[in-house]
Amino acid sequence: MSKAAPKIGFVSLGCPKAASDSERILTQLRAEGYSISGSYDEADLVVVNTCGFIDSAVEESLDAIGEALAENGKVIVTGCLGAKGDVVRTTHPSVLAVTGPHALEEVMEAVHTHSPKPHDPYTDLVPPQGIRLTPQHYAYLKISEGCNHRCSFCIIPSLRGDLVSRPIGEVMQEAENLVNSGVRELLVISQDTSAYGVDVKYRTGFWGGRPVKTRMTELASALSDLDVWVRLHYVYPYPHVDEVIPLMADGKVLPYLDVPFQHASPRILKAMKRPASGENNLARISAWREICPDITLRSTFIVGFPGETESDFEQLLEFMQEAQLDRVGCFTYSAVDGASANALPDQVPEEVKQERLARFMELQAKISADKLQQKIGQTMQVLVDAVDEENAVGRSAADAPEIDGVVYLEGGAGLVPGDLVEVEIVDADEHDLWAGPAD
Ligand code: SF4
Repeated sequence: MSKAAPKIGFVSLGCPKAASDSERILTQLRAEGYSISGSYDEADLVVVNTCGFIDSAVEESLDAIGEALAENGKVIVTGCLGAKGDVVRTTHPSVLAVTGPHALEEVMEAVHTHSPKPHDPYTDLVPPQGIRLTPQHYAYLKISEGCNHRCSFCIIPSLRGDLVSRPIGEVMQEAENLVNSGVRELLVISQDTSAYGVDVKYRTGFWGGRPVKTRMTELASALSDLDVWVRLHYVYPYPHVDEVIPLMADGKVLPYLDVPFQHASPRILKAMKRPASGENNLARISAWREICPDITLRSTFIVGFPGETESDFEQLLEFMQEAQLDRVGCFTYSAVDGASANALPDQVPEEVKQERLARFMELQAKISADKLQQKIGQTMQVLVDAVDEENAVGRSAADAPEIDGVVYLEGGAGLVPGDLVEVEIVDADEHDLWAGPAD
């Protein structure tokens, strides 16, 4: 009888936070001696890590579970949709087990039950940086799980619980392992990066024998010692965020801040129950730009939130005009099962939402195009992501992977992913840049 290690198939859907959960499960599977199978046929069972945030993600997740059941038959479901257990079980009663997000132990228990673990775990086969789903040269660094806020359109706290910060020593060790394995860019993620450490009262931990506080500024500063690109995501505009801007001005962390403002009308922000909604964000933005003129500001917005009047929406457009943000995503409000905003009065009709989205995007496309035009003629560093026979494509400090634009590099054939090159920008559209070698 063959003693080959059991093979586990893995399907990973959803946001970077879900990908980070997937990496942990994959790492644990390999640590225990399981093999990871690239095909349904060869797998002994399949784990599907799902997303349940909006309706289309729910559908995609249910389809993925259905496909895995049809192709393999033995399926364990985890992730955000798993937290809505009855949805999965009602649609696919034959799944073996269902867990919520961030449930490494429960997933492993289910795997052990249905495909017992090999007798001789090859723990030494697991590299210290774990198994990652992102390309070799960039990695997501998850610093906490859960969220203490209760935004009225969001169900993440009910799926993932209150904020739990990872110990700073553990986060730094993971970051160091990643850098030692060739990572050139660390993307710091969480639900609320600016709140890092609040739950442990900013406890002092240790990294490399020195004390470091569990706090965003101290984390950013420690990460800058690793000499790679450090990018901060999901930062709310609390006053203490001002402390990281000088680190950006000094070139220690990337001059890039992902701040999900969501709206600009104080009335709507209040109805959304957004964190830091009382801050004067325009004043804050102009103070940040004074300290670090090169800063790239990314944000997301929701239009058509219940109760949003034409005048609220116009306030948002005025804010956009004034703020001149570099990168912006915008969504129409859509009800999420279980969110308290569903019960708010004055829901906005769908055609009004769509009309506001179009007006918003028209304004922002122009702002974005103008800002990118201003980059023509500048020289900048680009991190190479992919190379084909003739050209390469990479990203500047202003571009986070997958959500922002890219820089197309003409004649970049000799480059390899992970190279940092100096280029001169020669062209731009409203999203991307084109560059040639710098003189
Ligand atoms: S800050 Fe608000 S939107 Fe973000 S995870 Fe927390 S509750 Fe949800």
